[in-house]
Amino acid sequence: MIAQRMKNLHPYVPGEQPKDREYIKLNANENPYPPSPRVADAISSAVKSHPEKLGLYPDPDSSELKAAIAGMLNATGGVLCRAAVNGNSVEPCEKDKIPFTVTPDMIYCGNGSDEVLSFVFYAFFDGDRPLVLPEHTYSFYPVYAGFYQIPLDKISLNSDWSLDTDKMLEHANKTDSSIIFANPNAPTSIGLSRDEIRKIISAAPKDRIFVVDEAYVDFGGESSIPLIAEFDNLVIVRTFSKSLCGAGQRLGYIVASPELVNYVTTVKNSLNHFPIDFLAQTAGIAACKDAAYYVECAKKVVDERESFICFLRDKGWFVPQSQTNFVFAKKDGVQGEKAYRAIKEQGILVRHFATPGIEQFLRITIGTHEQMVALKKVMESI
Ligand SMILES: *Cc1c(COP(=O)(O)O)cnc(C)c1O
Repeated sequence: MIAQRMKNLHPYVPGEQPKDREYIKLNANENPYPPSPRVADAISSAVKSHPEKLGLYPDPDSSELKAAIAGMLNATGGVLCRAAVNGNSVEPCEKDKIPFTVTPDMIYCGNGSDEVLSFVFYAFFDGDRPLVLPEHTYSFYPVYAGFYQIPLDKISLNSDWSLDTDKMLEHANKTDSSIIFANPNAPTSIGLSRDEIRKIISAAPKDRIFVVDEAYVDFGGESSIPLIAEFDNLVIVRTFSKSLCGAGQRLGYIVASPELVNYVTTVKNSLNHFPIDFLAQTAGIAACKDAAYYVECAKKVVDERESFICFLRDKGWFVPQSQTNFVFAKKDGVQGEKAYRAIKEQGILVRHFATPGIEQFLRITIGTHEQMVALKKVMESI
């Protein structure tokens, strides 16, 4: 009764969302702060003033949202936690300044970056050669590879958990393959600098698309957006779910050359013509117009992260330096699975992966100050 291709599906397993009790949720890298108050205002006034719009199809191309995203990237340099706020205006940090203006035709937006990634896989990766990626990276990439029947060439990490970029390049050049990874990477939290990314793209196959997923870059990484002017095969994927406090709104986007954006748009128009509903577009536009609010949120997350890393290292945990809104931590003599359970029993959810190689680690999302105080108390005894 079912299609043959169903055999190739191995669905993603998201962080658990239990309903049995109220947990402090530090397992899905959501932002602990709500969106800007302007987002709720924009949604409620849109619904009140224009209820008829709920009965009409939304703008299929999200034109106003693309313009708002481009404006926010230009204002912040694409790294919120380093941007400076003066009243309502935001200035990028010197090293983040983008040496050109990001224009709306360089943006494609979709229903969460997971959907955007799916369209990127469809548009740019063929089944006739393996896609090169790190062994431990965002676990949705192998799911899409299964969906589109793209073989994978998984490259193990260095012993310090950073990406083995030499080996990734060697393999990609051998098979003339595309490369994808998250920067900073997940779940390791470690980032590569823009100069390192430039070196890798320069040495990678020129006629293959190179994808950098910047889901976490706003918390201290270096964005590759400036490199779009140098490489016409670069696709950058970003999301509203982490630094823009918008996981519930399902908004993600790519930044790339207008030509590559057009290819992804063609996929969209062949699969899901109206990916972003009217309310999500309204919310996204309002969010981008209040970058100052999100800069403050990102700075708070970074402060909590640094204090939490000190705490963990003090207690004997191994923690790579994080450039994200989570930490990746393990401790000699402590089993990851057991630590996860012990913390859950105390009412706090963190993420544990049973994946061989990283099964002793916990991935812990940075929450509010109060949440981190509660977590530290629980972890004192582990
Ligand atoms: C969270 C995450 C995403 C997915 O984000 P959505 O926009 O919520 O679909 C994509 N890539 C990485 C690396 C992530 O961690």
